[in-house]
Amino acid sequence: MNISEILIREPYMVEEIAYLLQAEDNEKAMLFEKAAQVKKAFVQNKVYFRGLIEFSNRCRKNCLYCGIRRDNVHVRRYSLTDEEILDAARFACENRYGSVVLQSGERGGDGYTKRIEHLLKKIGQLSNGGLRVTLSCGEQSYETYRRWLEAGASRYLLRIETSNPELYKKLHPNDRHHRFEMRRKSLDDLKRAGYQVGTGVMIGLPFQTYEDLANDLLFMKQFDIDMVGMGPYLEHPHTPLYAFRERLLSREDRFQLALKMIAVLRLMMKDINIAAATALQAIDPMGREKALKVGANVIMPNITPGKYRNDYTLYENKPCTDENADDCQSCLEARIAFVRHEIAYDEWGDSEHFKEREKGQGGE
Ligand code: SAM
Ligand code: SF4
Repeated sequence: MNISEILIREPYMVEEIAYLLQAEDNEKAMLFEKAAQVKKAFVQNKVYFRGLIEFSNRCRKNCLYCGIRRDNVHVRRYSLTDEEILDAARFACENRYGSVVLQSGERGGDGYTKRIEHLLKKIGQLSNGGLRVTLSCGEQSYETYRRWLEAGASRYLLRIETSNPELYKKLHPNDRHHRFEMRRKSLDDLKRAGYQVGTGVMIGLPFQTYEDLANDLLFMKQFDIDMVGMGPYLEHPHTPLYAFRERLLSREDRFQLALKMIAVLRLMMKDINIAAATALQAIDPMGREKALKVGANVIMPNITPGKYRNDYTLYENKPCTDENADDCQSCLEARIAFVRHEIAYDEWGDSEHFKEREKGQGGE
């Protein structure tokens, strides 16, 4: 195979994507260069901020890779109060972020559904409708998704984690709460409910192949996703998957692979929003900015109150855990300027892809 030929031949076959994901040296540089050109043509050098509020680390699930899984007894569990969540949203407004992401461990029940509904309405009021809200609260029923949409949420992030059902089984307990088909159905429900839908995968998992990753990108394309957040898998010592750490690529190789995934996805889905995941920064302090250069256009600064940051530890070395939100903002501004990008303050930054999708369905 020849990379110059592959790069001009989108849509790609699975083996071509797998080839691109293994590109090194000159070929890797060509891939990154092409992705940067496509990015500039379709989404420019703007970066949208989503203030990330990790509002609770309580979770009913037990994903084998995740540091806040239910059975990890070393975690100090917390939930932010309504006031703390609203203060963080206010901070986002005052600092001219176009949107916030409310993320938590997965919970269920009517009390939880109502609480999120209430918070969404309050955020709408305090921002005069000026903030877009993304939810990332796991698998819920179609009715719950609809209620939250009607209360003011407009985007939802639910990573498929891997598009390979067999690999999914290796990463999750084998019970009815952790089913690939349910995860897949939730994505369908979110789309049907009317959300801008985001998904993603972890990159460099034990047992994962280049072909799996190529199929992940094809899955995103086939599903016609609006937004993607994907980053390297990072091990956590208090999780079952830690037993397989010997099988992992080095952290630097996982980082490079994640950049290549972002670059190839930008070539395949030119107008979607792609987030530079925080896990990139855990490996390289400039990780998210490097992702901007090869295709990403969204950054999620963590605006969770500082005292909770160390308790939302999905993996080892999670960055910025001791810093306050405003410290993160000033260091981010400098780093983004360094890679010649511009922060789109006061802009919602809706996915262009979603807008086109809506038009196609007779929406506005
Ligand atoms: N509970 C919700 C869910 O699972 O969709 C949202 C929060 S969950 C912590 C957000 C994402 O964190 C997951 O989709 C997963 O991809 C990522 N994550 C969890 N453990 C990780 C790890 N060890 N390394 C990298 N990412 C991880
Ligand atoms: Fe819970 Fe999400 Fe972590 Fe799975 S990935 S254990 S659902 S917080």
